[in-house]
Amino acid sequence: MKIVVCVKQVPDTKGGVQFNADGTLNRAAMLAIMNPDDKAGLEAALKLKDQYGAEVTVVTMGLPKADEVLREAMAMGADKGVLVTDRCLGGADTWATAQTIAGALRNMDYDLIITGRQAIDGDTAQVGPQISEDLDLPLISYAQKIVDVDEKNRTITVERQFDDRYMVVRAFLPCVVTALGDLDVPRYMTPGGIFDAYDKEVTVWARKDLKDVDDSNIGKAGSPTQIAKASDKVRKGTGEKKADLNPAEAVDYIVGKLQEKHVI
Ligand SMILES: Cc1cc2nc3c(=O)[nH]c(=O)nc-3n(C[C@H](O)[C@H](O)[C@H](O)COP(=O)(O)OP(=O)(O)OC[C@H]3O[C@@H](n4cnc5c(N)ncnc54)[C@H](O)[C@@H]3O)c2cc1C
Repeated sequence: MKIVVCVKQVPDTKGGVQFNADGTLNRAAMLAIMNPDDKAGLEAALKLKDQYGAEVTVVTMGLPKADEVLREAMAMGADKGVLVTDRCLGGADTWATAQTIAGALRNMDYDLIITGRQAIDGDTAQVGPQISEDLDLPLISYAQKIVDVDEKNRTITVERQFDDRYMVVRAFLPCVVTALGDLDVPRYMTPGGIFDAYDKEVTVWARKDLKDVDDSNIGKAGSPTQIAKASDKVRKGTGEKKADLNPAEAVDYIVGKLQEKHVI
């Protein structure tokens, strides 16, 4: 069984977000980490490796520095790493990102593709579903548990989170699964794993290596969505608590506040 996990290098927003003057993220000024949902997806793939002897490959599109998340994934137990990097791929929106990653995946063998549900920087949750569309594969999104993989009948069964409950979904392989952060608890890198990871060769692909991808669909030029300006969340003060009002008084109070703020 061959599994490919898409991992994205993202700025660690826990330490606060920093912006360039043009409103884009100042990624150089922030610690770069593996996207949390991707790490949970990687752990699920490594569990399938332990259980079924699957081969796990990690792929990332990004700056040459994104090689770091591939090394981290290999230090956790992934077998191979593929870095897709080329200046012309920069500034990609989700459409162009998915087209680019799909172009890399067309060069690879896979029975299962795992992406994170969402990246903590762009936060769109669009790339996984777009990759499944580009490759014309079934998609199971919002995976909270991989119940079973039946290699003989080539199916995978997954618990898909749905509001406050879940549905059990079965799909034929190959397919795409998008992982929730709590799909699995990532294992730690081992010292031996770290050494091995830096001995391993990472495959590096550029635009010319992408299969069946049109120039009109890559990079900033191929992105229908342009980020005009990004800004950090405005932290509002704590709200006002009014505990001593009866229902009628509470309604009057709220209406008054809404009128005060010209909402109504
Ligand atoms: C603040 C901000 C807002 C943005 N808003 C938009 C927007 O509204 N529309 C838009 O089209 N673009 C937007 N972008 C650009 C978007 O971040 C990039 O296109 C990005 O490459 C993919 O989108 P995402 O981060 O939302 O990923 P998501 O769709 O949330 O990622 C889902 C999964 O896809 C995989 N994945 C995503 N990117 C990569 C990668 N580079 N390498 C490997 N795997 C990957 C990962 O497994 C990830 O968990 C925004 C960027 C920023 C910083």
